[in-house]
Amino acid sequence: FDLRNEDLKDLHELGQGNGGSVKKVEHVPTGTIMAKKIVLIDAKPAVRKQILRELQIMHDCKSKYIISFWGAFLADPNICICMEFMDKGSLDGIYKKIGPIDIDVVGMVALAVLEGLTYLYDVHRIIHRDIKPSNILFNSQGQIKLCDFGVSGELIGSIADTFVGTSTYMSPERIQGSQYSVKSDVWSLGISLIELALGRFPFSSSYSDDSDLSDFEGTLSPARPGSMNSLASLGLPPSRKRASKAEKSKADKRKSKGVSLQGGAMTMSILELLQHIVNEPAPRLSGFPEQAELFVDSCLLKDPDERKTPKDLLKDEWIMYARTSPIDLQEWATTF
Ligand code: ATP
Ligand code: MG
Repeated sequence: FDLRNEDLKDLHELGQGNGGSVKKVEHVPTGTIMAKKIVLIDAKPAVRKQILRELQIMHDCKSKYIISFWGAFLADPNICICMEFMDKGSLDGIYKKIGPIDIDVVGMVALAVLEGLTYLYDVHRIIHRDIKPSNILFNSQGQIKLCDFGVSGELIGSIADTFVGTSTYMSPERIQGSQYSVKSDVWSLGISLIELALGRFPFSSSYSDDSDLSDFEGTLSPARPGSMNSLASLGLPPSRKRASKAEKSKADKRKSKGVSLQGGAMTMSILELLQHIVNEPAPRLSGFPEQAELFVDSCLLKDPDERKTPKDLLKDEWIMYARTSPIDLQEWATTF
């Protein structure tokens, strides 16, 4: 049906991200509950219309591992994207509420994400580009689905002009400005799985004076606005130079005030984190079943040529085991 903003009644806010906010709404004429994502876009009318056209591909994305799409429309200066409402929210919210997630459930998450990525790529040639716990959603039927994938090249472009986003799930090759591939999503999956299993972002402990980098919501901006889709243009040096104490405390102060840094500045801690991802060994799971650890290791191979595709990883032993798991996710959903 035809979606109009007037027909949507706001219920409450579900969350806020870098690009905008998400609200739970009711489509009054049909009584349908939806999630409405409002994205502020700094683009000309022709570009907005192009984005809207590109978003229509989401109507064809039909998989039980992908959030379904109700429609999108312009509500100047925003673009509104209406999607299936997932009543248990995203996996970051779940672990922040209940603590580290059982490793066997994490295996089922890995399976669902790989299925979703394989569907998007094999059927639509879409690369997700933003795999992280907040983009993996869960509902009380026990379903796990992906949202916020990169369907619209124009949308990716328009958002990248104003911010690059929290970059912490980015693969080493992406940080270094190489071409994005489905394997970059596999890296992001590996980081996300460790986060779910530990109940915290895996890199944060390496920064003793910066307790929780995953909460950092600052902005990385290009030196020349609009000129970048990767961080290579920032001149990220392949060195391990540390920020001076003074620079660091300045950055920390900015961070604690929640100021977003526009126009070429960025905090040292994010720069350090990016250097760490490029230069240091990848994080690992330890103290978990061997099959889980080996799977995560294979997601986090630093060389993308060695890393497998989502489709190949569906044949992994741990993933095959997750397929036959006796855990009932619908029942698990009733525990929180
Ligand atoms: P970023 O902007 O960096 O991608 P994010 O994914 O947290 O971060 P949004 O995509 O704006 O930001 O989403 C905000 C929050 O809204 C999410 O964390 C999630 O909990 C919630 N949310 C998003 N889509 C849905 C949905 N379809 N159903 C239920 N909750 C949702
Ligand atoms: Mg999101």
